[in-house]
Amino acid sequence: MAYNITVIPGDGIGKEITDGAVEVLKAADKKFGLGLNFAYHDAGGTAYDKFGTPLPQETIDACKASDGVLFGAVGGDKWDKVDPAKRPEKAILGLRKELGLYANLRPVKVADALIEYSPLKPELVRGADLVIVRELIGGIYFGEKCESEQHNGVERAWDLENYSVPEVERIAKLAFETAKLRRGKVTSVDKSNVLATSRLWRRTVEKVAKDYPEVECNNLYVDNCAMQIAVKPTQFDVIVTGNLFGDILSDEAAVVGGSIGMLPSASIGECTSLYEPIHGSAPDIAGKGIANPIGTILSAAMLLRYSLHEEAAADAIEAAVDKALAEGYRTPDLWKDGFTKVNTSEMTKIISERV
Ligand code: ATP
Ligand code: MG
Repeated sequence: MAYNITVIPGDGIGKEITDGAVEVLKAADKKFGLGLNFAYHDAGGTAYDKFGTPLPQETIDACKASDGVLFGAVGGDKWDKVDPAKRPEKAILGLRKELGLYANLRPVKVADALIEYSPLKPELVRGADLVIVRELIGGIYFGEKCESEQHNGVERAWDLENYSVPEVERIAKLAFETAKLRRGKVTSVDKSNVLATSRLWRRTVEKVAKDYPEVECNNLYVDNCAMQIAVKPTQFDVIVTGNLFGDILSDEAAVVGGSIGMLPSASIGECTSLYEPIHGSAPDIAGKGIANPIGTILSAAMLLRYSLHEEAAADAIEAAVDKALAEGYRTPDLWKDGFTKVNTSEMTKIISERV
């Protein structure tokens, strides 16, 4: 068995953190005999400088032909004046579209060693371990829109929200499958007391739920859910929701998780899925070798779990991260007195050794 992984470092700290994740994947490969092959491709500002476009066709083709994409980050002040249609950020938006990445999975797990970084009280976040499954290519973000029109003598603008049954079924199935690999609970979030799209959403999720009798399913209104994430995050396992609500709730949940450098994400696609940390290219620390590689390393673990179904190797990487943190190693973003300060490559090596 051999797997082909496309690596897209991108801009800023992208190279440092994807180097780290690839090194950890190689350690897992050595231990578990996975047969991983890596191919590097350009996207973002780096691709714009080389080819005049942030998303070259050969990068798209390589992604489509591979088993999983590991993405660093794109963007930076250097490209602020570039034509908006060719900005680095267009690379990730373009990949979402080209790969049909219909779901974004954002796990939020607070490592015991990092509980103090959450803005919530330790007793509230201890044991919190949830995943937000957000619909990514439908809903109000992709509906028909009008920037400005005259209506009864006043200017107005509008955005249309629509969801079809197949779109909701697809994301609901993914949420239930994810819950089966976890603690077996799905919370579907909508605003069905007000919105027609939410009523279709709820009906459809409840229909899909019948195929998963072993998974517990409940519904929450989005306003209540936003409150519950802050009040009692430990009640959640998998949260499934639409594009707009998911955008907001996943940022809220990330704050509960504490540190931006720590959190991974997966975008699940019709062909190849893409894995990236939730943070950006951090131009302020790029090239200094001090970025926290853990968000990208945990994204690589998700790639093993969801795209390659190599559960044992994924578990080993996650355990190695927990162990490194428990032993007191910290990159500068998380360093405090009493801990061992390490840079990106040292943290990478420490985690690799523990895999
Ligand atoms: P984007 O628009 O690409 O999301 P952004 O400006 O919102 O970018 P980030 O690039 O995520 O933000 O950076 C926000 C802050 O967090 C910066 O100060 C950055 O240095 C810091 N940061 C982000 N990622 C890391 C990391 N992996 N390790 C350490 N610090 C990080
Ligand atoms: Mg950002």
